[in-house]
Amino acid sequence: MRVTTAKASGADGRVFTVVVESLGTGVQRRAERRFTVPFSQLQPLMQTIARSGGRIRVVSQESLPADASASSGVGEQAAAPAPTPSPEAAAVHAAPTQPAAKAPVSHAAVPVNLYKPKDPFIGTVVDNYSLLADGAIGRVNHITFDLAGGDPQLHYVEGQSIGIIPDGTDAAGKPHKLRLYSIASTRHGDNMADNTVSLCVRQLEYEKDGQTIYGVCSTFLCDIQPGAKVKITGPVGKEMLLPEDEEANIIMLATGTGIAPMRTYLRRMFEPTEREANGWNFRGKAWLFMGAPKTANLLYDDDFNRYQTEYPDNFRYTKAISREQQNSKGGRMYIQDRVLEHADEIFALIEDPRTHVYMCGLRGMEPGIDEAMTAAAAAKGLNWSELRPQLKKAERWHVETY
Ligand SMILES: Cc1cc2nc3c(=O)[nH]c(=O)nc-3n(C[C@H](O)[C@H](O)[C@H](O)COP(=O)(O)OP(=O)(O)OC[C@H]3O[C@@H](n4cnc5c(N)ncnc54)[C@H](O)[C@@H]3O)c2cc1C
Repeated sequence: MRVTTAKASGADGRVFTVVVESLGTGVQRRAERRFTVPFSQLQPLMQTIARSGGRIRVVSQESLPADASASSGVGEQAAAPAPTPSPEAAAVHAAPTQPAAKAPVSHAAVPVNLYKPKDPFIGTVVDNYSLLADGAIGRVNHITFDLAGGDPQLHYVEGQSIGIIPDGTDAAGKPHKLRLYSIASTRHGDNMADNTVSLCVRQLEYEKDGQTIYGVCSTFLCDIQPGAKVKITGPVGKEMLLPEDEEANIIMLATGTGIAPMRTYLRRMFEPTEREANGWNFRGKAWLFMGAPKTANLLYDDDFNRYQTEYPDNFRYTKAISREQQNSKGGRMYIQDRVLEHADEIFALIEDPRTHVYMCGLRGMEPGIDEAMTAAAAAKGLNWSELRPQLKKAERWHVETY
């Protein structure tokens, strides 16, 4: 999808053309359709298209004479090639400077690679339990390792990952390679003793040639018993660090085990023991969008519900449960549908330079989120393909997918 918009000379005068495919039924659905609307009607049109299952191909600002731009109706034109933006429109990006203003995350004192694969830290499993409720799909466990006694002490901050080297050898008889896992506990650990680390691990399971295959390391971890020794490397990663600003706004987009870093942020923000230990009193807005196939698959749900009750002005929790909820088109409710539903509020927040967006989960979530952000941005007269790199450069757009 391509979106082009131009800077407004006056918001009322702007007119946009939206090219859509897969709208309507039958032959009509295969044809490309084009709508021309004044700026004021762009967002309602986007929402109607989204509700009708259409795919937005292009949004471009028209260079129309002043009298033509005064029209307030939605005009649909015959199918036609995608409009070419005027050179002026193509050259000017719609993103105001404000949304991409820099709000850097502090990288100071972030530990990296204290333990490497050649000489890993040997941690001890202290806990391993299922995070899923009855009727859930698959297997996801919360696993905690004791890190005490290392020299240097293996420590980390919220948003980092560690490596695990599973026991045993691969098909070639060589020791297994490490796998990375996002850390799910704050720097203090779940017990606040500063010497444990927790992970949230989904057992990889897939079918191949009629056989069920289980992932090597994820199965090793989900099966592991308290007392077992595990080779740990790291910590690594500076992409998902939290800003130190207590008034930052944090939008979190997570699917499945992508919740791990978000759990660390939310504990740091809202767990009473964390607030007391850190003297860090989060006062901004935190908004978690969580995607799961079933309610039984929601991870750490009770904690997040509690935070919402205790901090209603600071924490919002929006769930997309694909096999139980329907989106406005009658299809499965995915996280990107929730993003579209709340596009206005999300972009109002993004306009605030203190807002950061974090995305974590399976790589497959990225195109859907990107498409939702593109449509949502266009409805606000913004060009997401230009705004996203600006937010990234400003260290306000954080992605870790795998
Ligand atoms: C930065 C980062 C953070 C991560 N955080 C987490 C986390 O918090 N929790 C978590 O559970 N995982 C996380 N992962 C993923 C984790 O590192 C492992 O990749 C995952 O656990 C699978 O490893 P495994 O050893 O079980 O699978 P492996 O035995 O290594 O099998 C994986 C391989 O199986 C094949 N495969 C996978 N699916 C299919 C399929 N459907 N069809 C055919 N072949 C397939 C692919 O070749 C793939 O490379 C993270 C990854 C990264 C990079």
